[in-house]
Formats: sequence, C-alpha cells, structure tokens
Amino acid sequence: MTGLQCLQDLYAEDSDFKTPWQSCLNGHPVDDYNIRHGFLFKGNALCVPDSSWRSHLIKETHSGGLAAHAGRDKTLQQIQSRFYWPHLRRDVTRFIERCHICQTYKGIAKNTGLYSPLPIPDSIWEDLSLDFVLGLPRTKHGSDAIMVVVDRFSKMAHFVPCKKTFDALNISRIFFKEIVRLHGIPRSLTSDRDVKFISHFWRELWKRFKTDIRLSSAYHPQTDGQTEVVNRTLGNMLRCLV
Ligand SMILES: [Zn+2]
Repeated sequence: MTGLQCLQDLYAEDSDFKTPWQSCLNGHPVDDYNIRHGFLFKGNALCVPDSSWRSHLIKETHSGGLAAHAGRDKTLQQIQSRFYWPHLRRDVTRFIERCHICQTYKGIAKNTGLYSPLPIPDSIWEDLSLDFVLGLPRTKHGSDAIMVVVDRFSKMAHFVPCKKTFDALNISRIFFKEIVRLHGIPRSLTSDRDVKFISHFWRELWKRFKTDIRLSSAYHPQTDGQTEVVNRTLGNMLRCLV
C-alpha cells in the first residue's frame, strides 16, 4: 500500500502509540510492540496512529473496490489480521452501523439466530441443503433467483442461477444437471423454504431415488441454518454490489 510511509512520522506524537514507540526506541519493548523498517508493530499487526488512516482502512476493507460490504465480524477479522489500534472493534462497528449501503440493502435480521441442529452428516455430498435466494435483480438471461445447494459436511456450496417462476420439474432438472452430475445422488436433502419443495411430485421423485426428504416442519422454519446463513450472506453481497 502506498502512502503509509507518513505513519512513521506520526508515532512519536500519537497519543496511543508515543509511549510504546519511545520504549521500543530505548530498547525496552513492552506488550509485544516492536519496530520494523521504521514502523511500529504490535505482534504482526501494523500500528495505525490516530489519523484519517483508521477510517480509510475500514472503508477500504468494508466497501472498497474489492470489498462486498461484509458484516462486522468479517470486516473486523480482515483488519485485525494486519492492523492494530485501540478500540478498533468499536470503530469498525460504528462505521458499519453508518454505512448507507448496508443500511439500505441489508435486512434487520442478523446471522445470529439459534438453529436446532440436524443429524451430523459424515461424508461429502451425501446430505445436502437446498434453498433459494429470491428478490434479486433480473439478469440479461432472465435469471432472477439463485438455487443454493450446500453440502452439509464440507460446507461447500453451489450457486445456480434460476427463475423464481421455476416449478418443481424445472428445479429438479437443474438440480440433476448441476449437482447430481458432479456429486451423484444425495442420501438426504433438507429444505425449509420453498413451497414448491413440498409438492407431492417432488417428494415422489426423490423417493424413487431412495432419498430421504427431511422437510423441516412449518413450525420450525429455522431448522436448516446452513443455507439460511449462506443465502443471507450471498443475497446481501449481491444486493450491495448491484
Ligand atoms: Zn456497507
């Protein structure tokens, strides 16, 4: 990153870092502080003096050209892996609370609900979650929804564009084309969202393939936390970017 050289001039006068800076210069480093190439580090994190650099770094990480408005924890994690200053967590939290795009395009719901666990799968691409992200802008090819299939064991996910008007037949067709082609027929499938999924036709179809459909109860729609969390993240990112 260019421009960071000016940090070197700020340490000596900075209210947060002048003390550790001075003790490092005196050869008596404290609290894991150290000076490398003229920069102050705490552990391996670069210390950022109290300056516009702090908000600049948060902005780059959260909403810069390569960012996708990740939530607080993800943004915090990315910044903390490289930078340090006191109250970094508070600053990130405030920045995101005030991010206009996040306020506009993300729901109030947080990814922190409690989910009742399903049986734990023991090998890959046997126990899957299937769900849909709806309410997306339509693409050139007419897609306006995404079929999300998550392998409950590896957490690997496939995202397949589709249309919200697709019925069970269309969905089973793309499911076979995109998922069964790569991973074979799953042992069980969990879905809690889509009415199409409960259709008799769909159930009968899977029975023929010896798949045990675990329909989440209508009264416990939170059972399948896996795809809900993945979908909310994907939906939020796409909405923010579009
Ligand atoms: Zn944002």
